Amino acid sequence: MGFQVTLRVMGNLAFRRERVNRVDRRVPLVDHAPGMAVARRWGERMRILGLESSCDETAAAVLDADARVLANVISSQIPVHAKYGGVVPELASRNHLLAILPLMSKVLQGSHTPLSEIDAIAVTVGPGLIGSLLIGLQTAKVLAMASDLPLVGVDHVEAHVRAIFLDDPIAFGPAPARPTGPYLALAVSGGHTSLYRVETEVKRGVLHDDCRLLAHTLDDAAGEAFDKVAKLLGLPYPGGVAIDHESENGDPTAFRFPLPLRSPKKHVFSFSGLKTAARLAIEGVGGPLSDGARADLAASFQEAVVGHLVHKTFQVADAHGLTEIVVSGGVAANRRLRSVFAETARRRGLKLFLTPTVYCTDNAAMIAGLGLRRLAQGDCYRGAASRRLDAYANRAFRSGVRRG
Ligand code: ADP
Ligand code: MG
Repeated sequence: MGFQVTLRVMGNLAFRRERVNRVDRRVPLVDHAPGMAVARRWGERMRILGLESSCDETAAAVLDADARVLANVISSQIPVHAKYGGVVPELASRNHLLAILPLMSKVLQGSHTPLSEIDAIAVTVGPGLIGSLLIGLQTAKVLAMASDLPLVGVDHVEAHVRAIFLDDPIAFGPAPARPTGPYLALAVSGGHTSLYRVETEVKRGVLHDDCRLLAHTLDDAAGEAFDKVAKLLGLPYPGGVAIDHESENGDPTAFRFPLPLRSPKKHVFSFSGLKTAARLAIEGVGGPLSDGARADLAASFQEAVVGHLVHKTFQVADAHGLTEIVVSGGVAANRRLRSVFAETARRRGLKLFLTPTVYCTDNAAMIAGLGLRRLAQGDCYRGAASRRLDAYANRAFRSGVRRG
């Protein structure tokens, strides 16, 4: 059935092909970073479609040239994976396959944009589950090649870091403050916990914002640690969300966890010690956990993870003389994390930019948003060359990132 739908979409695309070139290239594309304009001329009614399928969420979004989110839809696979307590890669791929075309129809309808009025396609190419990434990538390739649209491959973590620049007045407020750069960006999710220095520079009228890796995790990512400890506590998947809620009724001082890697010289994260400490604390309680003990353990573990993230982030900001901090990624949705970051930044006099919760967890708006920047930089594939775009499971950023 999925195959038939694909053919029908391709047929429509071929039919509408000549109409795609209606873009007025005299109107400049306005960049979504404050004060920065890009030289690449595109069109005032430019529309970009973003597709994301790197893990257990199929997502699609349509943005205009100013990174205004016209529609953003997500099909979550939580019910599929919940009974296994984690993502089952094979099931994730199969469910992306079922979800992606209906989701695309939904986002086009929601943004009042017929497929014939899409001007470019951005798709996540990594890092993530290869089988899942390939569903989004192949869909994007078919669409792009059938209608001769530029195709942009986007790195998922890099997109998290730039989600702060999306334009959505409901999520960000009507006149949001934005980092001017250089800034320190924390990307904290189920697969990554890293700090980047982001430098912005305009070269020949085009904005370039390169990321340099300053710190990463030695073992688990913070979200992964949340998910594993939640499982030990008997809480449902995804564990980070469950621990966030469970902590509401718990005492964060009930159990003491060590602060990992205190030394200011060590610019790395580590969560495996906290995870072991949580397991030992759970075993120390002995027997089945009471509701009170479960809530106390959740709150104490959350406090320790947040404490480590905040401690390292501000330590690295100080070491590199950075005064603007951006926080992004699924774990950045954590309410305690948001309040401790806000309080610490206020106390230390640093500017903090928290990605709105809706754009912290996986979404395609951030993929389309970074896709716009890449497009302006000319970093895209066209026609048969699109075949060369490949997915990667685990690689440092595909481009524009240097290790510090
Ligand atoms: P990915 O890791 O695939 O990039 P996301 O960016 O959506 O996916 O991050 C998912 C991770 O974020 C999961 O580990 C999940 O437990 C965690 N997470 C989501 N919401 C919260 C929350 N409120 N508190 C803590 N962790 C959370
Ligand atoms: Mg993510």
